[in-house]
Amino acid sequence: MRSLRSRLTFTHALVAFVGVIIVAVLVIAVLRVAFNQLTERRMQSEADAAADVVSVIYQRRQGWPGAAQALQRRLAQSGPNDLVRRRRMLVYDAQGTLIFDNGSTVLQRRQPQPRDGTASQIVVDNQTVGTVLIGGQLGDLTQAETDFLRMVRWSVVVGSALAVLIALIVGRVITSRVTRPLRSLQVAAQRLASGARHEPLAIPPDRELAELAVSFNTMATELDRQQQLRRQQVADIAHELRTPLSVLRLQLESIEDGIDQPTPATLRSLAEETSLLTRLVDDLRLLSLADAGQLSLAIEPLDPVAMGERVVGNVTPRARQQQIDLKLEALPGVAPVLADPQRLLQILGNLLENGLRYTPAGGTVTLRIGTVPADVCAQGAAPDGIAGWVSFEVADTGAGIPASELPQIFERFYRADKARTREGGGSGLGLAIVQRLVEIQGGRIWVSSAVGHGTTFHIAMPPAVPATRA
Ligand code: ADP
Repeated sequence: MRSLRSRLTFTHALVAFVGVIIVAVLVIAVLRVAFNQLTERRMQSEADAAADVVSVIYQRRQGWPGAAQALQRRLAQSGPNDLVRRRRMLVYDAQGTLIFDNGSTVLQRRQPQPRDGTASQIVVDNQTVGTVLIGGQLGDLTQAETDFLRMVRWSVVVGSALAVLIALIVGRVITSRVTRPLRSLQVAAQRLASGARHEPLAIPPDRELAELAVSFNTMATELDRQQQLRRQQVADIAHELRTPLSVLRLQLESIEDGIDQPTPATLRSLAEETSLLTRLVDDLRLLSLADAGQLSLAIEPLDPVAMGERVVGNVTPRARQQQIDLKLEALPGVAPVLADPQRLLQILGNLLENGLRYTPAGGTVTLRIGTVPADVCAQGAAPDGIAGWVSFEVADTGAGIPASELPQIFERFYRADKARTREGGGSGLGLAIVQRLVEIQGGRIWVSSAVGHGTTFHIAMPPAVPATRA
């Protein structure tokens, strides 16, 4: 009885059984009442008929003494179906004295009571001269009626058994229908747990089961994707580590073999490879800490413009070196922002550096600070529910990113330009880190880009004071 299938089948049968029993009890009770009323009516008409007979005899004998004897004679001559013999019959005079009793029981010398049977008054010349009492009990049924009732009882019993049997069969069929998709779900879950690839489940016709199958398929597809992503990431990490490590190994081996001398230039190159490796490992560690929710944050209200000035100050020397115009545009009256100062500087610094990296000399990189306007959210150009948040935009006039690449650029190790050397850019972790840092501080990040015109990274962070709708 532990399986859902047995339970459902049993419940079906139980419900049918209880239903049938209730109907059976009701039918029998109603029949019983109907038969009681019938007998009552019949006894009353028999009592009335007896009273008529007795009144005729009374009239003919002109009083009770002769009438009683006539009744005795009539009893002696009567056949088995005669009313005088069929039922207990008592006749009382107007004073309640028993005149006649067709039974053998002790004579009752008292006024007849209704519960003794059915009474009918004997009326002669508009005067009540006595009472006839017909004995019998309510529900005193004829053979045909008893047979009919027995048949009804049997039909109810057989009907109940049939109904329960049908309920069992139907229950079995329905529960098989319900549990079949659940079984496929269980098999699919086991396959998934054993590491096999997910094969989409067929969608059953029932709505709830269809929703379950769709949810399972979505979950399994996402799990597949995550697993593939993880495998890809491990492969990417190995690949990213192998290159600087083999450069280091080769250089060290050639120094060891006397092919190269440990000159300051060689040592500097070794140190550069080491710091590249260190940065990569640091980035990976930062990401895994952020993923595990273990990155400690010191969130506090900050002046966004002061933060902007600091970060622009940090990257200005590099912008000058690359002959790129670096600008800070801040709208007046921007609310303080809720963020961790170090992490905010890291986010903005990273985006500005990317801007400088992908913008040719003579271009412009701008950091804009303001408030997210409500109409931008309404038009769908920004996520919903962030109107009034503090916005940071890092816009460049570089090559831009093709629309097909935009959804991937926040993925780990993703580089739009596959041919780009590691030396020309970062590890492909920069934007993934920026995205995680924004998200764990409760902010939002999105990107817009036009090939040939430039790229803008948008960040919205919660304000420290309640948002004023722009
Ligand atoms: P990387 O360290 O390679 O720059 P990121 O995660 O910072 O890695 O960026 C991922 C990819 O997104 C980059 O390889 C580049 O193709 C693209 N990208 C990022 N910022 C810009 C930008 N400002 N303009 C054009 N492409 C960009």
